[in-house]
Amino acid sequence: MAEELTEYSGPATMEKITSLAKRRGFVFQSSEIYGGQNGAWDYGPLGIELKNRIAANWWKEMTQLHDEIVGLDAAILMHPRTWEASGHVENFTDPLVDCKKCKTRFRADMIPEENLAKKTCPECGGELTDTRKFNLMFRTHIGPTEDNAGLIYLRPETAQGIYVNYKNIIQSNRMKIPFGIAQIGKAFRNEIVTKNFIFRTCEFEQMEMQYFVKPGTDVDWFNEWKKRRWAYYEKLGVKMDHLRWHQHGPDELAHYAKDAYDIQYLFPMGWRELEGVHNRTNYDLTRHTEFSGKDLQYIDQDNNNDRYIPFIIETSAGLTRTLLMLICDAYDEEKVVQEKNADSSEGTVGGNEDSADWRTVLRFHPLVAPVTVAVLPLMKKDGLAELAQDIRGELKEDYATDYDQAGAIGRRYRRQDEAGTPFCVTVDYQSKEDGTVTLRYRDSMEQIRIPRAELADKIRKEIKGYKRK
Ligand code: ATP
Repeated sequence: MAEELTEYSGPATMEKITSLAKRRGFVFQSSEIYGGQNGAWDYGPLGIELKNRIAANWWKEMTQLHDEIVGLDAAILMHPRTWEASGHVENFTDPLVDCKKCKTRFRADMIPEENLAKKTCPECGGELTDTRKFNLMFRTHIGPTEDNAGLIYLRPETAQGIYVNYKNIIQSNRMKIPFGIAQIGKAFRNEIVTKNFIFRTCEFEQMEMQYFVKPGTDVDWFNEWKKRRWAYYEKLGVKMDHLRWHQHGPDELAHYAKDAYDIQYLFPMGWRELEGVHNRTNYDLTRHTEFSGKDLQYIDQDNNNDRYIPFIIETSAGLTRTLLMLICDAYDEEKVVQEKNADSSEGTVGGNEDSADWRTVLRFHPLVAPVTVAVLPLMKKDGLAELAQDIRGELKEDYATDYDQAGAIGRRYRRQDEAGTPFCVTVDYQSKEDGTVTLRYRDSMEQIRIPRAELADKIRKEIKGYKRK
C-alpha cells in the first residue's frame, strides 16, 4: 500500500495530493464501486478527523473567542420564497455553452475569449452553442407530488439560514448590535465544471459568519473582519506567502455587495479563492422584509429606540476547500539523512549518511492534525506492546491517538509523517525499567526522553506553543 518515496518527486501537484488523500484514507471518490459520482466526495477516517478539527478550530475562533457571536444550525431545506428574496432564483446562474461535436460543457467565462467569439470548442474545434444562463441551485420536491407546489431547493449557501433567523436570535439571546451569527453546514451547487479534486464540488461545506452592524459603521467593520480573517490563517500556521487578497472588480461584484475581497491561496493549479469577506449592505434583510412582510428592523434600545435595517459583513469560507488548502499547504518532501532510533541498540533508521532516505510529511498544525499522537512499541514482545497500549489508553482521554506495532520503527515513523501526526511516543526496554519514553517530533524528527507521567502536559504545551518553521 505505502508508496515510499525514494527520491524527491518535485513540488506538490494535484495528482500527488489526490493520490495521497486516497491512499491514506483522507478522501475517496463518492460511490467509487459504481464508477464514481462527479462532484461528490467521501471523507475517510483521516479526512473526517481533519474536517472535524478544522470546523472545531474555526468555531472556537469565531464564537468562543467573541462574546458577541453566537452559533446556529439552520435546515438545508428552506421555504422557496427565501431564494426568490435572496435573488438566487433570478441571478444565481453561470453562463453555459456546449460543444455540438464533442458534447463537452463549459462555463463561458472560463474559456478563452477568442473561442467564445468564434464559437469554437477549445477541446476539439467543434461548433459551440449560444451562451445560456444556467441556474446552479439543485431543485427537488417535497411531499408526495412532483408538481411546482412542492418545489424546493437544496440551499446553495448557508448564509440565508442566518438572515431568516436574525430576529429570533436577537429575541432569544438579547443580542445587541454589533453582533454575529456563525454557522457551519452543507451547501449544494450544480457546478458546470467540477475539477481539481475537492476544490469545486456540487456538495460541499461552508463556514460562514454574518456580522450585523449599524449602517455607517460597515466600512470599519469590513476592514476589521478582513484583518481578523487574515490573522486566523496566520494562527493556523499557513504559509503566508501563499495567501493574498483579491478585490472584486465592478464585473465580479455581486448585485448585493458594496465591497468584496477574496482571500486567495496559491494551490498547485494557481491562485484560487479560499474565502470571501463581503460587505452585503442591508440588501438581504431588506429583501426578506419585502418578501416575508415581516418587520426586520433592529430597534436600538440604547439610542432612543432608533430603528434601522442592519448592514451585514459576511465572512464565508469553504470548509472542504480549506481542508484541501491545508493538505496542499502541509505537503512536504524531505531528505532524511539519519534518524535516531528510540533504542540506540537498534541502530539508526532512515539509512546513514551515505544512503539518504526521503519522506513525505504533512506539516499540519497540531490543532488540526487528524491524529495528535501515535504510540509505537519498539517491539511487540517482552511486554512492550502492553505497556504502549496502556500509555495510549491514558493519552486518549485528551488526544486523538493512533497505535502501530507493525514493521520497522523507521517505517512506522514514515507512516505517521505522511498522515501528519505531530508527535510519536516510542516505548522501549528502558521504558520498562525507568518509566521514561521517547517523544519524537514530526517536523524536526528530534527525539527527547521524558517520564511517561509528563507526556500529556508536555504535548499540551507543545501544541500551544507550536510555530511552523
Ligand atoms: P467561486 O467563484 O469559486 O465559484 P463563489 O465566489 O461563488 O466561489 P461564495 O459564494 O463566495 O463562492 O462561497 C464562499 C466560499 O464557499 C468560497 O470561498 C469557497 O471556499 C466555498 N465554495 C463555494 N462554492 C464551492 C464549491 N462548489 N465547492 C467547494 N467550495 C465552494
